[in-house]
Amino acid sequence: MSVNAEIITIGDEILYGQTLDTNSHWISGELDQLGIRVIRKTTSPDKEDEILIAFEEAEKRAEVILITGGLGPTNDDLTKPTLAKYFQVELEMNEAALEEISERYERAGWELNELNRGQAIQPMGSTKITNELGTAPGIWLERNETIFISMPGVPFEMKAMMEKEILPKLKRRFVKGKIHHKIIRTGGIPESRLAEKLQDWEKNLPSHIKLAYLPTLAQVKLRLTATGSDQEQLEKDVDEQIELCMPLIEKYVYAIGNIELEERVGQLLRENNKTIACAESCTGGYLSHLITSVPGSSDYFQGSYVAYSYDIKEKALQVDPEVLKTQGAVSEEVVIQMAKNIREVFGTSIGVSLSGIAGPGGATKDKPVGTVWIAYSDGEKTEARKFVFAKDRKLNIQLSAMVALNIIRSNLVKK
Ligand code: ATP
Ligand code: MG
Repeated sequence: MSVNAEIITIGDEILYGQTLDTNSHWISGELDQLGIRVIRKTTSPDKEDEILIAFEEAEKRAEVILITGGLGPTNDDLTKPTLAKYFQVELEMNEAALEEISERYERAGWELNELNRGQAIQPMGSTKITNELGTAPGIWLERNETIFISMPGVPFEMKAMMEKEILPKLKRRFVKGKIHHKIIRTGGIPESRLAEKLQDWEKNLPSHIKLAYLPTLAQVKLRLTATGSDQEQLEKDVDEQIELCMPLIEKYVYAIGNIELEERVGQLLRENNKTIACAESCTGGYLSHLITSVPGSSDYFQGSYVAYSYDIKEKALQVDPEVLKTQGAVSEEVVIQMAKNIREVFGTSIGVSLSGIAGPGGATKDKPVGTVWIAYSDGEKTEARKFVFAKDRKLNIQLSAMVALNIIRSNLVKK
């Protein structure tokens, strides 16, 4: 028998369009992987009577009800008292939750006040769910055939709770067979083209293996999920399929499993004994930030210049003022000079540069917002490519850095 789930997101800010409800989207995907069917999602305002109606209706239809938001300690956070009212139980101090909160505060060297202690108060009969990344513990409450699970609205707190505690618990309870996942990580190819390349392979996937496309910034992750009864066999089946699809997309695959692109680039730099420096304009150092977020990056990362103004491009990187004047900072020739010169100034094997129009201002007729030139130079060759990304400033910065990482990666694997 299949299990039905519902998701209730609570918060006026979602209804007013101030917050995009990413929580229910993420939760749906995770439950789908377990074969738990989400049959409805509801967003309720921060109003007790509305929340009660949402609970009541969901309980009629679903065995698992996942609630996010309104769990905090402030007055507008109504989930806890409303759950207690709905279950017709009192709120009481949950000792296990209190202990956890106290420990957290002690470790951080903070004073525990009444508001903090209040976060350990839960409806009677609840089991607390550990919140490793925040202070409001989650609530697991059951009655008859239905489980109510209440989590914080903060997406990363909610996700950590789901991954660590809730999903494993649901899996034990409702998933009879075994599940095996593996993720193939790709960069430098849009989802639609990847799907085209994988079309025939996907059609021939055995029925117990499902494929999901998970696009993120300038990357697409392919998640293979196999279900069955024999764990070892599932692992073999998935590996077999990966072997079959790899020749079709090899060029774009940067890792299989849980490795970020910046980590993979770090591994490749280290394996090839290469060092790197960046000359960043529109990204303001973001590429360097990603590179240095990997532990041990000092083995290969020498440093960077954020050369934002014309003046600094000239002074620090010896970009030809004539070229800057005639072609503009966002041009092929300028990024080529930046990449070559940063490599020389820092004495590294590789120099990478970026210059673009992150927006919202700064566009010209032939250079719309999102135009970014990226150059790569390694002594043997220097090459530059133009991209036109998005309208959004932050997105352009992030996309530029991810694409630059992918350019570094593909050059290193070619060797
Ligand atoms: P806190 O302890 O921080 O008060 P909370 O459980 O009370 O947590 P909310 O106050 O409802 O949570 O929301 C906290 C943050 O999470 C807000 O920034 C909100 O915009 C965001 N958030 C809430 N619900 C969602 C959602 N469904 N999807 C994405 N973000 C959300
Ligand atoms: Mg809140």
